[in-house]
Amino acid sequence: MSPTGCKRIGCAREVSLGLKEGAGRGILAASHGGIGVEPAGAWGRAKDRFQLWAWRHYVDLEFTHPRLSYLFWEATLGCNLACRHCGSDCHRSSDLSNELSGEEVFAALEQVAKDFGARKVFLAVTGGEPLVRPDLFDVMGRVAALGFPWGMVSNGWAVDDRVVQASRKACMRTLVISLDGATRESHDWLRGAGSFDRAVEAIERYRRAGFLKGLQVTTTIHRRNVGEMQAMFDDLVRRGVRDWRVVSVFPNGRARRQDDFLLQPSELKGLLDFVRDKRLHPRPMKVSYGDEGYLGCGYERRVRDFYFECLAGVRIASILADGGISGCPNIPRSLVQGNVRQRSVKDVWEHGFGKYRDRSWMRQGACAACRDFGICKGNSMHLWDAETGGPKLCHVDMLRRAREEEARERGGTPC
Ligand code: SF4
Ligand code: SF4
Repeated sequence: MSPTGCKRIGCAREVSLGLKEGAGRGILAASHGGIGVEPAGAWGRAKDRFQLWAWRHYVDLEFTHPRLSYLFWEATLGCNLACRHCGSDCHRSSDLSNELSGEEVFAALEQVAKDFGARKVFLAVTGGEPLVRPDLFDVMGRVAALGFPWGMVSNGWAVDDRVVQASRKACMRTLVISLDGATRESHDWLRGAGSFDRAVEAIERYRRAGFLKGLQVTTTIHRRNVGEMQAMFDDLVRRGVRDWRVVSVFPNGRARRQDDFLLQPSELKGLLDFVRDKRLHPRPMKVSYGDEGYLGCGYERRVRDFYFECLAGVRIASILADGGISGCPNIPRSLVQGNVRQRSVKDVWEHGFGKYRDRSWMRQGACAACRDFGICKGNSMHLWDAETGGPKLCHVDMLRRAREEEARERGGTPC
């Protein structure tokens, strides 16, 4: 589900808002003792390790029994903004000439409905900015009539009352709006002048309309706004938001070219500590950290409702703007395995996704000798660096460095 920037909206479990969780997850969640619970000394750490061990076996089962439950449609790579951190480098003058027509999209989804059952697959509409497609709600109205539950991620810029009514008519269930700062200045610095007011208005319009099953605000955290966490929390609570997801910026697309963006280890740890503390009291607003990567003991299941896993190609597939079929729209295009203009999603799902389901090829670079590879599997595929053959980021390593820094400052050893 491309919420860093307009693109990375996050994983299935984060934005489906209403799909049932797998049985294994439920059991593990119940055994955990609730979200946000601190590990209690040696016993707590042993319990953590046991749960991660159990989770590892559950993940292995999922990878050997793939089941499509979440499908992205990258509606366009066009965008009405040009955010500094955009993971897919979208802008107003993106070349859209090869994008799927409404008829092509509908035909592909009609086939998905026949092959997988529309009601069993949540459809996440992403971009670019989906609202720049003039036929968006015509297509989605017809797609919803096939039975697909669906949701959208948007920067909010183009939302007016007409759009709200069109999305209601097309049976949209969930919406993710990006808001990236506590103040107009902070958000607009990232996304462009006037964008804060438009995003806030969009939230308010949909809140007033009251038909959505889920309305989530997503915030990309980077070095310039990491100090605004508490102010953003207060602001969103005041605006009546009930679900806030934070993601840390990652080095893809335009963000890769911004030296001062990426969080330092201590800042990542501070962010996770903030989320973990807020989750001890989930009212008035639920806060979670995006499924950005494996965090290891101490944070897994404490900063979000589930343990980390990248389900690209295992539970998730995507139809890209040009018709490409891949495990997730956020991963390198070299992993595209076909095109709906020539092949069905089912054909690719059954015969083209081996690389997603056996991640042993990702055991290289920093991951080669890692004892956590069995559960982490090389971290999120959107962080995979095809050039260097390793993850662009290892959260476990960053957190270890943060703990070492803290210990040095205290004059002790990291715990
Ligand atoms: S690559 Fe994996 S972790 Fe990243 S958004 Fe896609 S499914 Fe989620
Ligand atoms: S080194 Fe690789 S496998 Fe190990 S925790 Fe980091 S990203 Fe995951």
